[in-house]
Amino acid sequence: MPKKFTTKNSQETKNLGKKIAKSLKAGDLIALYGELGSGKTTLVKGIVAGLAGQEDEVTSPTFTLINEYSSNPKIYHMDWYRLEKVRGQDQLLIEECLGDKASISLIEWPEHGKNIIPAKCSKIFLKHLGGDARSIEVDL
Ligand code: ADP
Ligand code: MG
Repeated sequence: MPKKFTTKNSQETKNLGKKIAKSLKAGDLIALYGELGSGKTTLVKGIVAGLAGQEDEVTSPTFTLINEYSSNPKIYHMDWYRLEKVRGQDQLLIEECLGDKASISLIEWPEHGKNIIPAKCSKIFLKHLGGDARSIEVDL
């Protein structure tokens, strides 16, 4: 059953991320859907904080393809915004992460990699509700 939350500021979104982190396990793959600025990276900060006790070094991997955090389990954080389609060398690297059953993968802009994302993966949908409010639907 999907669960729908509303957050009023980025701290609340981080707190929700920490809560979500508790129900994640090694091998999980989570697709984060939502427009620019809807809070995907902010939510990832909370998830990383929940599993690593640190969030400061979480940045948007728009330019780096994959960020890796030494949490337990390890987290791969990807942003496919700049990829028109996941292919070539990128695809090989990404598939290596997705296939790592000892880690968790969190993916922003999964729409750009429909060819490699498993249909049955967990999904989180973020939406602007005006001002700082966000709707966050979690379907793990
Ligand atoms: P995305 O990764 O979806 O592009 P980011 O998490 O990078 O989004 O950015 C969200 C921006 O919106 C940040 O500047 C954050 O401070 C701001 N913000 C305001 N309210 C919220 C909220 N309720 N949840 C998450 N971010 C919020
Ligand atoms: Mg982002």
